[in-house]
Amino acid sequence: MPLLSWLSESADDRPDAVRVDDRAVSWVELRRLATAVADDLGGVDRVAVEATPTLETVVGVVGALLAGAAVVPVPPDAGPMEREHILRDSGATALLAPAGGTGPAGDGGPPVIPVDLARRSDTVHPEPDPAATALILYTSGTTGAPKGAVIGRRAVAACLDGLADAWAWTPEDLLVHGLPLFHVHGLVLGVLGPLRLGSRLHHVGRPRPERYAAAGGTVYFGVPTVWSRIAADPDSARALRPARLLVSGSAALPAAVFADLAALTGHEVVERYGMTETLITVSARADGPRRPGTVGVPLPGVRTRLVDEHGAALPADGEAMGELQVAGPTLFEGYLGRPDADAATRAPDGWFRTGDVATIGPDGWHRIVGRAATDLIKSGGYRIGAGEVEDALLAHPGVREAAVVGTPHPDLGQQVTAYVVGDGVDGPELIDFVARQLSAHKRPREVRLVEALPRNALGKVQKTRLAAD
Ligand code: ATP
Ligand code: MG
Repeated sequence: MPLLSWLSESADDRPDAVRVDDRAVSWVELRRLATAVADDLGGVDRVAVEATPTLETVVGVVGALLAGAAVVPVPPDAGPMEREHILRDSGATALLAPAGGTGPAGDGGPPVIPVDLARRSDTVHPEPDPAATALILYTSGTTGAPKGAVIGRRAVAACLDGLADAWAWTPEDLLVHGLPLFHVHGLVLGVLGPLRLGSRLHHVGRPRPERYAAAGGTVYFGVPTVWSRIAADPDSARALRPARLLVSGSAALPAAVFADLAALTGHEVVERYGMTETLITVSARADGPRRPGTVGVPLPGVRTRLVDEHGAALPADGEAMGELQVAGPTLFEGYLGRPDADAATRAPDGWFRTGDVATIGPDGWHRIVGRAATDLIKSGGYRIGAGEVEDALLAHPGVREAAVVGTPHPDLGQQVTAYVVGDGVDGPELIDFVARQLSAHKRPREVRLVEALPRNALGKVQKTRLAAD
């Protein structure tokens, strides 16, 4: 089925099908607004979109997709260098931005085409080639300079159909979230999901607990930092009881947050795993169990495997830790203009190397240990997953945030070093606290108390910045 078939065919004119902050439109109105944008784009091949959390962004993205152009979202808080990198690297020849906004025009970027919510059109654009590019998404930049991942319309459609199956996601649903609109999570799942599957959407602008609480959704999306804030706000958390499904992703959900939310909301959060390059590949299912610390089973059509450093297969016994590799219909086409980076992500038989370390249980359940580069600590002959030590630290009532990394050690190769944001805690006490829960080699050798952890727009801890300190 074509990517936006729901939107193209819908005659549903409920006035609040798609709401962003305090402005809402019906499906029919959204289609007419987006068609006016598509009319303006003509033959543009790649179009950048100022990805503010606004209705204009949704209209701009849909307009570009109706016109068959590839969408390049630009993070609104990108610094001038990052912005210029994305605009130049992507080769976008137009930039969609809200009409009347104080856009950064005149910075040498592509010409601005205004998204104007007063203009509607009923032109019927021919259905774009299903094999065309839907999006060029820049990776989060957690581990280095963002790379442009070229994502096909078919991959987006396959991913969303897989999620519809796993999460029993239907037109009866009202999806609520407040995610940024320039990554897979907020844009592909959070905007194109409702547009393909026909569920209503309420983007709350900013992901504040009280806004989630007031939205009355059936399905809620959040990154772990959002879920952790909701868990710390019992009134807001309790307001989510009538919902059907709470979903977390983009980074590991701490076990303590899973437990607190279960107690307050009556829901066990569904965790799912994916990345820009593969879209979502693994998830717990709406009709099945959830297990804290695990991310579920492969989505329909997705295949996964574990390999060691030499590319040899590892058993799915729940114990062996290896690199997770994936294959299937949701994979990207490659990094734009980066054949070097591309080649590095492919196994000889074409499977995608995620760079994440995982275990797979005999029942197919995946546990993400972390990133091979920063979350797998090699200390004195042991391989230690940073997440396990972080969870042990977070179980302490005085620890608000924790990030564990390996830092150089003369005998051990690496030592376990913890960065902690806490209230009235001290290092030796925390080291003892971890030692009481985990085997001796996993306890931190050093605890550094800090005011805040370096995080990117999705709230992910930028460990390479910690390790560089
Ligand atoms: P960059 O590639 O630029 O360094 P990034 O890898 O953070 O940035 P994304 O593609 O947005 O960019 O993130 C994908 C990564 O996020 C995965 O490779 C994985 O490490 C992590 N991730 C996503 N979901 C989960 C999850 N449920 N549990 C643990 N880690 C997750
Ligand atoms: Mg990555």
